Amino acid sequence: MNSEGGDGDGKIVSQVEVALNGDAEKASSSRFTSLLASKDRDYLLSPTGSQVKVSDLEGHVVGLYFSANWYPPCRNFNRVLSNAYEQLKANRSNFEVVFISADEDLSAFNNYHSSMPWLAIPFSDLESKKALSRKFDVEGIPCLIILQPDSNEKEEILRDGVELLHRYGVEAFPFTRERLEELEREEKEKHDNQTFANLLSSHDRDYLLGHHPTNGQVPVASLVGKTLGLFFSAQWCLPGMKFTPKLVSIYHKIKQLISERPGVEGFEIVYVSSDRDRASFDSYSSLMPWLALPFGDPKIRALARHFDVQDIPCLIILGPDGKTVTKQGRSLINLYQENAYPFTEARLESLHRQMDEEAKGLPRSELHAGHHHELTLVSDGTGGGPFICCDCDEQGLGWAYLCLECGYEVHTKCVRAAGGNSTVGP
Ligand SMILES: [Zn+2]
Ligand SMILES: [Zn+2]
Repeated sequence: MNSEGGDGDGKIVSQVEVALNGDAEKASSSRFTSLLASKDRDYLLSPTGSQVKVSDLEGHVVGLYFSANWYPPCRNFNRVLSNAYEQLKANRSNFEVVFISADEDLSAFNNYHSSMPWLAIPFSDLESKKALSRKFDVEGIPCLIILQPDSNEKEEILRDGVELLHRYGVEAFPFTRERLEELEREEKEKHDNQTFANLLSSHDRDYLLGHHPTNGQVPVASLVGKTLGLFFSAQWCLPGMKFTPKLVSIYHKIKQLISERPGVEGFEIVYVSSDRDRASFDSYSSLMPWLALPFGDPKIRALARHFDVQDIPCLIILGPDGKTVTKQGRSLINLYQENAYPFTEARLESLHRQMDEEAKGLPRSELHAGHHHELTLVSDGTGGGPFICCDCDEQGLGWAYLCLECGYEVHTKCVRAAGGNSTVGP
């Protein structure tokens, strides 16, 4: 290979170099190749079906995306991932995604993959798909496993890509430990410095919308000193629609309660809308006697990210100083109604004590009209915990009646006597 004869030393050096370069190439290509290629395939598929060499992934941060078209949470996450992907590509970041399909057939796969801007393992390569899912212990979809370009270390494999992207968006890139620690520090700082003004105002807006239909402007500054609920919901969200009338009634009761006790701080709620168009926003917010962020305001997305809101409806409670009191406003309202106010730990402790006291008077077991097995009284300490009531479909916590046989669980207040065997009041 070295045609300059005569110089023995030079020749040896260049051979060593060739060998080294060859090894380095092999070492760096071997990781993605051994993971993503097979003995008779060294390529991945682009969304249009053309072949892209696995070796083209070298030097990239690679996300292995386990997903299927038939599962709605996957389709939802697709949007999040597409957004991040397009942004990273526009910034020329070295990021690539490989889709590993759990679709039911080839045409479903083709359809689904054509909606994605990234690569995929061919649908027919069952063996590779199975091996990957086994290797990375994939238990549920959507799942996004992030691999760093030049590390074989196990600790450089991140398995919670889905959560990280939901939480930080493209900011999470390049998904290294250092980057994530940095984000966590920044986030903690933001929460420590949280005020109504920096949460709810922007450079060109220092007000919220007043109650429909007047929609006058209410200064954000007027909220200081009140307990504030941020209500994340949308008209297309059925549980949100179901919870709204209840929240309206509790809102009035809390206002009433406050007016009867002078010296007690105020209470307000702000609607944070995920409605898809203005008409839905207008019609939904007209049901609400409280304030709202304007439809489509950029703060809405920022708040959802700041509080890591992944499911709606969600009610986040802020104290009079703007700091977070609890993210469990919705279940606390379901559990304690207006008594939950002002949602502080001290208040909840006293409510817990009260509930424990009341539970002493409840029967250890119950026959409930809505279920065919006997139900047992449980609490946090005895097999209970957060649950969704099988009778009223709302969240619950603490004391409950549970079927030890099949997990059916209801609020103590939701038990209805079966066969005239009544023991619990309304
Ligand atoms: Zn219930
Ligand atoms: Zn049962």
